[in-house]
Amino acid sequence: MIPYGRQDITADDVAAVEAVLRSDFLTQGPAIPQFEAAVARAAGSPHAVAVSSATAALHIAYDALDVGPGDVVWTSPNTFVATANAALYCGAGVDFVDIDARTLNLDPRALADRLARTRRDGGKLPKLVAPVHFGGEPCRLDEIADLGREFGFRIVEDASHAIGGSFKNHPIGDGAFSDLTVFSFHPVKIVTTGEGGAITARDPSLLDRLNLLRSHGITREARLMRGESEGGWYYQQVDLGFNYRMTDIQAALGTSQFARLNAYVEAREARARVYDAAFGPAGIGAQARASDSRSALHLYVIRWPDDAPIGRREAFDRLRAAGIGVNLHYMPVYLQPYYSDMGFKPGYCPQAEDYYRQAITLPLHPGLTAAEQDFVIDTVLKLAGRASS
Ligand SMILES: *Cc1c(COP(=O)(O)O)cnc(C)c1O
Repeated sequence: MIPYGRQDITADDVAAVEAVLRSDFLTQGPAIPQFEAAVARAAGSPHAVAVSSATAALHIAYDALDVGPGDVVWTSPNTFVATANAALYCGAGVDFVDIDARTLNLDPRALADRLARTRRDGGKLPKLVAPVHFGGEPCRLDEIADLGREFGFRIVEDASHAIGGSFKNHPIGDGAFSDLTVFSFHPVKIVTTGEGGAITARDPSLLDRLNLLRSHGITREARLMRGESEGGWYYQQVDLGFNYRMTDIQAALGTSQFARLNAYVEAREARARVYDAAFGPAGIGAQARASDSRSALHLYVIRWPDDAPIGRREAFDRLRAAGIGVNLHYMPVYLQPYYSDMGFKPGYCPQAEDYYRQAITLPLHPGLTAAEQDFVIDTVLKLAGRASS
């Protein structure tokens, strides 16, 4: 099976992990700050906090911004469930704003309309909006930040797909348009630590909060304690945190991977251009990429044409049967049974549902060979009734 995404592990990665395994620290050692420096550098941020997953990162990012009971978080329906679930972990509610059919990201105009309507009707405005850079394509962060100032909400970017990308010459994660940015290092993402995540932050007080929440709310730093230290053994729990730490084993793998971040994004760009050239002229729609941004191209999604001789579901099954590991990102989160139990109904975000009806994620990763890609393209064009010869 040609996978839709796959990690790339080199001899350097293996050596970096081995060195940690032979060192004194498997966790809470020097590999973590080294990895955090690599993440911060790539994201153009002064600081990063490494955690056990992007899910953990979203949870403590929302928590650090005081999202709690009585609050509501708004996000895109076209995301992995974790973006929404993190609001529920905080005891807050969650709501969804429809996507732009071209970019597949949260639509800033739909957001503006919804905010204005909510204010006019005396409804509850969001405490926090979590835009998701779907497939690595940056959201229109400047427009969302303007709305944040006007309507008083905080912003956490879910950049799980987007490390290495940029928006208007701002690296994703530099914090120019948001409070915090979350990254994932799951093996299908751009760079991997096995499991892992990180948060970039500019505000030193938010950074303190994140460091506390990652590790039980415990501190050994005198400036964060109440009263005086009682001795060298002393620590205080000053908040209710979690054990969301990353291990040094994972961090060493990540630091080694980050050396190849740009090469990975370039490899993805080259393959995406090959798909664009094949599908554009054939009238097969794909996610739009803005000329003022750089997508990290985590995903390459097409919209199965309604005039194809077979439907999307059959096309998906036949691509899998041909050994092409297609996938689907995403069923609108609110259509998940857990969310429909909360009262969400089909028809809530028509653009996201339309997209879901047509979507297929094609293989895209640095190890995808030209021969494999040609086979994917040929098979898609034939099944869509577009084969020229
Ligand atoms: C992968 C992903 C997550 C969760 O990442 P983990 O590191 O697996 O917890 C969250 N949001 C989005 C958009 C993702 O793709």
